[in-house]
Amino acid sequence: MDFKEQLKSSVDIVKVVGEYVRLRRMGSTGRYSGLCPFHQEKTPSFSVNQTRQFYKCFGCGVGGDVFKFVMEIDGLSFPEALKYLAERNGIPMPVRTEYADAESKLRGALFKIHSIATNVFQTNLRGTQGAEARAYLELFTTSRVR
Ligand SMILES: [Zn+2]
Repeated sequence: MDFKEQLKSSVDIVKVVGEYVRLRRMGSTGRYSGLCPFHQEKTPSFSVNQTRQFYKCFGCGVGGDVFKFVMEIDGLSFPEALKYLAERNGIPMPVRTEYADAESKLRGALFKIHSIATNVFQTNLRGTQGAEARAYLELFTTSRVR
């Protein structure tokens, strides 16, 4: 099972959609309905199927799985939707993901660069070569409780 399927099986679409739409349970069918968040309406034609984990609007025709919903409602890309749902549900993302788009990869590389740079600066600051810098910083931190 790949990460997408794994995530999908541990996230309940009714809960996710329920954060945006007031859903009413339709008997014991596993179906819920509410006012569609994608078009203006007064009577609910938006339906969420808990058993099959998809949503469908009979008014404007939108529909899909939990990823599609998050992408559409929050304007996210697929990798972003994946990440959002993983974070919201406390599920760790795989480090190397086939879903990473160019932007996420670049962001990942930048985080890594900054993390390396931070380590270098901190090590230097704590070391003997950082004595002068530490003394300088003391000037600004003396009034603060440490
Ligand atoms: Zn609709």
